[in-house]
Amino acid sequence: MTELISGRLDRISPLVARIIAPNPGVMTGPGTNTYLIGQRLLAVVDPGPANEQHLEAILGAVPAGAQIKWIIATHTHFDHSPGAALLAERCEAEIIGPQANEEYYEDASFLPDQHIEHDVVLDTGECSIRAIHTPGHVGNHYCFLVEEEGVLLTGDHIMSGSTVVIIPPSGDMKDYIHSLELLKNYDIKMIAPGHGAQDPDPFTLIQGIIDHRLKRERKVIEGMQQLCATTLDELTPLVYGDVDIAMHPIAQLSLLAHLIKLEKELVVSKQDETWRIR
Ligand SMILES: [Zn+2]
Repeated sequence: MTELISGRLDRISPLVARIIAPNPGVMTGPGTNTYLIGQRLLAVVDPGPANEQHLEAILGAVPAGAQIKWIIATHTHFDHSPGAALLAERCEAEIIGPQANEEYYEDASFLPDQHIEHDVVLDTGECSIRAIHTPGHVGNHYCFLVEEEGVLLTGDHIMSGSTVVIIPPSGDMKDYIHSLELLKNYDIKMIAPGHGAQDPDPFTLIQGIIDHRLKRERKVIEGMQQLCATTLDELTPLVYGDVDIAMHPIAQLSLLAHLIKLEKELVVSKQDETWRIR
């Protein structure tokens, strides 16, 4: 496996190359993966943060005679989309992607020229890039499939080496699991995540994530059965005992997403800040 080094262009398939942004961290792993698709007419997926050094690296990776025609965002989190406007100024590319949600952590500066829709295909003349709506992490999340090669750019829907945080209210655990199941319908040969290394065994990875989420959900139900009535703060250490305590505030977002799913399924109920098993 290629080492994950920021700023360097790594080719991961004949049509797809990756540059890692210099924003490593707890939530971003080695940094955001920016992908360049194509050889002459390029699409850039997830330009990353508004970081001059990273923009220079992207522009420096464009081969002589080639040009960036499209800038695409998987979703509007600050580690994925803010580079779009700056990059577009320098290459006159069209910006494609979802509108930001009016929520916390969303990049309202991302203003797409073209809104994205599920199963719409961008024909670049060199390849077909299919948009797949994958709500879950947040409601406005899309994956992009380079159909000729079966390379799926997953943004924050699937990360390598860490668990995706589900962020209510637009993030939704039921949607998340449904969106993972949805991917089984497509001809995918490689997962190229928004953070971390690519994975050559997509369906094992996808099933593993579904199984992990359902196992966590069983722990939520067991915890609720034990406590009968509880708050998020009380339930978190019981359900995430295996997770570093420093990550518990983040894990609590996913726990809330599990509870909202179970509330919709009439397994638990909520009154004020207290959750009860039904
Ligand atoms: Zn995100």
